[in-house]
Amino acid sequence: MYAKDLIASRDGNVSVRISETRILSTPTGAHKGFLAPEMIVMTDMDGRKQKGGRWNPSSELKMHLGVYKARPDVCAVVHAHAPYSVAFTLAHVPLATPLIPEVVATLGEIPTVDYTTPTTGDVPAAIAEPLRRHNAMIMERHGTLTVGCDIYEAFDRLETVEHTARIVYAAMTLGQVQAIPADEVARLKAMGGVREFIDARKIDCASCRAAGTANLPMGSYGASRERTSASATATGSISTDVVERIVSEVRKRLA
Ligand SMILES: [Zn+2]
Repeated sequence: MYAKDLIASRDGNVSVRISETRILSTPTGAHKGFLAPEMIVMTDMDGRKQKGGRWNPSSELKMHLGVYKARPDVCAVVHAHAPYSVAFTLAHVPLATPLIPEVVATLGEIPTVDYTTPTTGDVPAAIAEPLRRHNAMIMERHGTLTVGCDIYEAFDRLETVEHTARIVYAAMTLGQVQAIPADEVARLKAMGGVREFIDARKIDCASCRAAGTANLPMGSYGASRERTSASATATGSISTDVVERIVSEVRKRLA
């Protein structure tokens, strides 16, 4: 996120659900461009820290936990103070208007959630309803919230939201923008499988492609997924090795 100018300084936070009762998240008060594996914090579903280290969970962890409680199908949450997305909310220009076909087909509309004070319990309360229908949203005066089955899907959605905001901003400086007609919106949503309500049924963590090795992605890690996942669950903790692999895989994907 930092490398792509989606956040600045200590903004933003990321979390991954690694088991029924454990969450890994970025720490509070840390510059996200300079994170190290040992800074990742593990908590339970109530936000209580589960493993030593001097770093504490994000001050916005309540929002992440609210997502996991509202959406059993979600295994990763990405939050950014993405500049163009936030700017649209400051100017009270919604991004929910259907303008770009691929965005309509993948995300549907991108709603703006009314302002709530960051870090408070008001945030999870405000996002609960939109989460029933959307995997990506913008919180007024605050930032984006995107969720996914794994961290890459949640990050992809963040990129899509901010990229959309940039395109729409450019278009608006050139002239008037026109919404895609309703019948075409319906067709695009059908093509992309976008439904009015999201199927939020729980995914079996053991078989989910995201949750296996502490939500490491598929592919080359598949063979070791079972072993590592089992050790993490059995001990109730997660090794530095696993965290390092998560960070390394993320870096590789974004290089
Ligand atoms: Zn924030």
